[in-house]
Amino acid sequence: MQNCSLYLLKTILIFTELQINSMTEESDAKKLIAAATAARQHAYCRYSEFRVGAAVMTEDRTIIGGCNVENASFPVGICAERTAIVKAVSEGHKSIIACAVIGWSDVPQKVIPDTCLTPCGMCRQALKEFDKDMTIYCAAKDGSYETVTLAELLPRSFASKNLNV
Ligand SMILES: [Zn+2]
Repeated sequence: MQNCSLYLLKTILIFTELQINSMTEESDAKKLIAAATAARQHAYCRYSEFRVGAAVMTEDRTIIGGCNVENASFPVGICAERTAIVKAVSEGHKSIIACAVIGWSDVPQKVIPDTCLTPCGMCRQALKEFDKDMTIYCAAKDGSYETVTLAELLPRSFASKNLNV
């Protein structure tokens, strides 16, 4: 009987922990997507008219946003995710545990409301440098989002381990 009660208690505890983890993840997603959406407003995208916002969450749960910043010399431009990374690192953060990205075109005919935006290849590699089992929330204009891991987006990646660092 005592074993049965213990088993029941353990099951309840595990279930509660799973619920709390799930609630925390949902809360993180909402906070990060809100920060990314706010950063998106500042996008400098006069050439592509594709306005993107991103936000990263550092290990101490600080949230830092960024937007895409284009340039007349196209390769000089930077994506929203890397803007957020650069801001975070320049403020002393060295580890990122989550990232959200959201974006859609300013041209109404080009808007695809339910398409979740994923980071480009260069940003995936940039995020890998600061990866701490990173979760990425890929959001769409309609508020929907997909949760993926960086490992899913960038499998068999090149990283500091390859340089034995
Ligand atoms: Zn990018």
